[in-house]
Amino acid sequence: MRYILLIPDGAADKPVAELGGKTPLAALNPPGMAALAGGMAGQARTVPMGVAPGSDTAILTIFGNDVKSGYKGRAALEAAGAGIGLQEGEAALRVNLCSISSDKRMASHNGFGIEGDDALALADALARDETFSGLARRAGFTIHPSPTFRQIGVLANAGSEPFDLAEPHMILGRSIEEHLPRGGRADELTALIRASYLALSAHPLNISRGGRAANCIWPWAAGRAMALPDFADKYGRSGPVISAVPLVKGIARLSGLPAPDVPGATGDIDTNYEGKLDALLDGFKAGADFGCVHVEAPDECAHARDAQAKTEAIRRFDSRIIMPLLERMPRIDPDFRVLMLSDHLTLLSSGAHDGAPVPFALYDSRDPGRPRPFSEDSTRYGRYIADGSVLMDLLFERE
Ligand SMILES: [Zn+2]
Repeated sequence: MRYILLIPDGAADKPVAELGGKTPLAALNPPGMAALAGGMAGQARTVPMGVAPGSDTAILTIFGNDVKSGYKGRAALEAAGAGIGLQEGEAALRVNLCSISSDKRMASHNGFGIEGDDALALADALARDETFSGLARRAGFTIHPSPTFRQIGVLANAGSEPFDLAEPHMILGRSIEEHLPRGGRADELTALIRASYLALSAHPLNISRGGRAANCIWPWAAGRAMALPDFADKYGRSGPVISAVPLVKGIARLSGLPAPDVPGATGDIDTNYEGKLDALLDGFKAGADFGCVHVEAPDECAHARDAQAKTEAIRRFDSRIIMPLLERMPRIDPDFRVLMLSDHLTLLSSGAHDGAPVPFALYDSRDPGRPRPFSEDSTRYGRYIADGSVLMDLLFERE
């Protein structure tokens, strides 16, 4: 028996006018999802009441964790996903390379899209700058270079005082002086921000970028070291979690599950769907009895508020992962179950996450049923799961 978890991130939605008053799922009526819904379909609350909806809280819940106790912030998960193990007492932070205008306003939270060797060159310049590196050393602050605007910082001796760090994309156009760090380690983090501005503004790369300079770091989204229960101990099942995004890889690795890197898995609509499915099936061929494929694209398209792109991302997930999975799986093991659900809603209307219950489908190859439409509406009168942390028990027939 093999058990499969499929997560089209943020696929669920509310009806929008661009799609004739339908949601992307309802407008598309994807045949693979309809086949999965032939088994059992319903809705599940994957984000507990009172918890901020996001892939972190939702996917932790789907993997059977209680996010109301002991969850310490997504940066620790992302650090684990990037292969950075936090020691007890350390905190991870997202460290954006952002752009500060000459009148000290947040001009771009991602340094006008700085990436690749340019991003690495700026991280290197910070490490070589005497003032910045001296401050960083005294603060116990390390930047793990990454070829994106999003560096990962680790702070030793994070202490217990809560961090209070502004989200850089939320202060666009505003004066940074009013949004500098507060709370835990505020003075040291502020000094690092100021020193980074002095070090990076004079960098030749930034001088050549003119008004688009990625000239300042912005630490935020701090998360303290955290441990998750071992998935294999808890459920007696194990296998790979296939995802492009560090957050999901981090949840997997902290749960003791492998999270292999798939070439061409990008987190956007042009991701390597075939490569991801192959990685899942390779896991089963190697003896795994569990496997998960997560695709970020529907969420990203919804954040961009692009209804056509989101619908296309769902169509690709359906035609390039679900359909070939149903076709190829019986040759590996005729007995398998598939749980498929969006982790949370991502609303085309606002570009924001929403924690309302999500539609799910649970397929069993031994009793596949007949295909039926899979949408937010069609699952409304199916089984209702009030606590999404029992979904793995449902998949694993443990209830
Ligand atoms: Zn998500």
